[in-house]
Amino acid sequence: MKVFKFGGASVKNAEAVKNVAHILKHFVGEPLLVVVSAMGKTTNALERLTEAYVTKDEKQKQDILIEIKRFHDEVISGLLSGKGSHTYDDIDNLFIELECLLETPVEGNYDYNYDQIVSFGEVFSTRIVSTYLKEAGISNRWIDARNFIQTDGTYREGRVDWNTTADIISKKLKPIALKQLIVTQGFIAQSPDKQTVTLGREGSDYSAAIFAYGLDAESVSIWKDVSGVMNADPKRLQKAVKVDGLNYNTAIELAYYGATVIHPKTIQPLKSKNIPLYVRSFLNINEKGTEVSTSQKEDTSLPFYIFKDQQTLISLSTRDFSFIIENHLKEIFTILNEYGFRVNLMQNSAISFSFVVNDKPQKMQALIDRLSEDFQVAVVHNCQMLTVRNPEKAQLSELISGKTVAMEQRGSNVWQLVLEA
Ligand code: ASP
Ligand code: MG
Repeated sequence: MKVFKFGGASVKNAEAVKNVAHILKHFVGEPLLVVVSAMGKTTNALERLTEAYVTKDEKQKQDILIEIKRFHDEVISGLLSGKGSHTYDDIDNLFIELECLLETPVEGNYDYNYDQIVSFGEVFSTRIVSTYLKEAGISNRWIDARNFIQTDGTYREGRVDWNTTADIISKKLKPIALKQLIVTQGFIAQSPDKQTVTLGREGSDYSAAIFAYGLDAESVSIWKDVSGVMNADPKRLQKAVKVDGLNYNTAIELAYYGATVIHPKTIQPLKSKNIPLYVRSFLNINEKGTEVSTSQKEDTSLPFYIFKDQQTLISLSTRDFSFIIENHLKEIFTILNEYGFRVNLMQNSAISFSFVVNDKPQKMQALIDRLSEDFQVAVVHNCQMLTVRNPEKAQLSELISGKTVAMEQRGSNVWQLVLEA
């Protein structure tokens, strides 16, 4: 059994969806589960819709809803065969369902509402893809991922209940998947009280890994618009090269530092069952891509560059200029945890403690206000973090020339720099 994942870019318009069908035709007859993300930039639009709903901005709400509907209608009309649009009627019904939800008074916290609304993107896309595949002669069964992936109910960041999930997948889904191609959603899962929970942005790779784990799949392939894992973002480094093989640990490390090509949580479940991961190009099925597995020997001298934007550097000092000591650190981390921030890099000196976190617009000011109750706070917004594995000095200085380095840390083979905008 194989698991494939197609991300937003691979289903961003009708042509792209047709290309997915073209790829799948090569695998007809093999047991296969296909995970699909929301189409194109739908998730971003749904995030804006959530914001409009929660802030009761009626005009915005309507505008964004129309924009999302129009986008999907356009994809559908580009896919339609002579049969007419009735085959896609359930998309209309889904939109009605979403509209009804948006008409109800806002209840519950932001993250709960976010998950109920944003999850529609994956449902729209998988419905469309599944219907189109059938029209294209690829028989398949649409299933709702929420019936299989169980979490603890942490909205926007569901933590998977592995025992239950693996059990349901192997007992209930595997028998179906052995007989029929399955189309399902990435990113969405269920809470213990049967509400929709998402797994964090870009979580569809993770969903693919969860299904692969439960199905004991032979491999997972992530189909992307790049030829595989590169050693840097080619938009930022012209000389970026494709990497043929990586072992799990390197992949985990790169994902941890923010390499966006692989979702950070994806590798762990695959590693634990020794399931290889392939990152392949949906534009060229004959290209080999990158294999992530235990058997991979890697080029240990190849530098990797990982850029992370929208970083905020926060420096704290005590009001009486006393040293920052353990109980302060304990307090700082308790606050960060409470506000849902993860530290990407930290450093302490005698009287200050500095750290870098992702800027979360809805939560940042609240965090700063809370920290200001107990500390003197200095903030640098809009930083970029550059992590380099196996640094090559000449190339690195070229990359940072003209930029102000606000913080720097050098380990034996990993250097991290925080650059001001
Ligand atoms: N659609 C979700 C997102 O854009 C999940 C994913 O694409 O992996 O974050
Ligand atoms: Mg996406």
